[in-house]
Amino acid sequence: MQEVYLDYNGSAPLDPRVAEAMGRQMTGAAGNASSSHRFGLRQMAAVDEAREQVGALVGAAPSGVVFCSGATEANNLALLGLAEAAPAGRNRIVISAVEHASVRATAQWLHEQGKAKADTVGVTPGGFVDLDELDALLGPDVLAVSVMAANSETGVLNPVAQAAERARVAGAVLHCDATQMVGRLPFDMAATGADLVSLSGHKMCGPTGVGALVGTRPALGRLRPVVHGGGHERGLRSGSLNVAGIVGLGAAAAICADERDAEAARVAGLRDRLVSGLRAALDEVSENGDTTRRLPNTASIRFAGADAEAVVCNMDPVAASVGSACHSGAIEPSPVLLAMGLAREAAFETVRFSLGRFTTKAEVDAAIPRTVTAVRYVRSMDGSGGW
Ligand code: PMP
Repeated sequence: MQEVYLDYNGSAPLDPRVAEAMGRQMTGAAGNASSSHRFGLRQMAAVDEAREQVGALVGAAPSGVVFCSGATEANNLALLGLAEAAPAGRNRIVISAVEHASVRATAQWLHEQGKAKADTVGVTPGGFVDLDELDALLGPDVLAVSVMAANSETGVLNPVAQAAERARVAGAVLHCDATQMVGRLPFDMAATGADLVSLSGHKMCGPTGVGALVGTRPALGRLRPVVHGGGHERGLRSGSLNVAGIVGLGAAAAICADERDAEAARVAGLRDRLVSGLRAALDEVSENGDTTRRLPNTASIRFAGADAEAVVCNMDPVAASVGSACHSGAIEPSPVLLAMGLAREAAFETVRFSLGRFTTKAEVDAAIPRTVTAVRYVRSMDGSGGW
């Protein structure tokens, strides 16, 4: 059987058109983008074009785009950068319970260092940030609120505009990790009212290792750099620019802007075909999270009575992922699913399928029976989860 890749939320494959743009840049251009000779200027012109492409994708001014190594770094820059320059009396950061580890761990680190107090706002059973709880947590001492646009595990879309409005009233900065949503659904910074937005190349069929923090002028003005040096990227992220990566990110953004809507409809059709195929063949299949407001490419599926890790191993060469992670030798269930109120057992029985640009109907039709066989096999083993 041929390989089927259904883990786009982990990392989406590089679009060959992006690879071509990067290849041209890597082989055809020399020079440091900061140099004032013609070679440097040509590199900077390529960076500036990418800045426009990325800004356009999220409805931001090109000057608001700060290139960096990915969404992990963008999330760190947003929270650490704000905390370092916090005005007196504003020392609290509120994050949602379903944020990516790069937001959760950064907030926790700030808390442990005594640099900011971190509070967590819970989510509803559907996976949405609980706005009533957010209201209760907000106050004049809140520096920043961090709410992701779309969850990587469930695809559930948060009410970012409502959270941003609440943050604005409280005088706090709204940071939105939009890594999974940008390029897949329309995301407009001005319309949502987000002040700082993180995004990453490899979730939108661009290169891994490059991303951006995009901000409004006042929000960027409230940041201190995390990486110090030559003062690149408005002084917020020093280091010689990764021009080929940045060109790749720009090309990926431009393709998403052109093709996003048609792609979303096609991919949602395939995702729904996958889910109905699995439901038709198996009992006790349920989906986690509100399925009416989520990314078009994601399904978080619980196969009751089947350990997800064992299912995923037995599905090979079909690739999907589990939300559990190994911490200090112990396997822990997904904190996202636990925050939504799932029992540990249900979380351990959940597989995430995420599709994308290059997924075909034939692949989905091949993945269904492979998954069904794997679930039946794992369920047929004893209660040890199939191992
Ligand atoms: N935020 C979210 C929501 C993500 O899904 C990811 C990637 N899994 C990241 C941040 C980190 O992105 P990067 O790999 O670019 O550091």
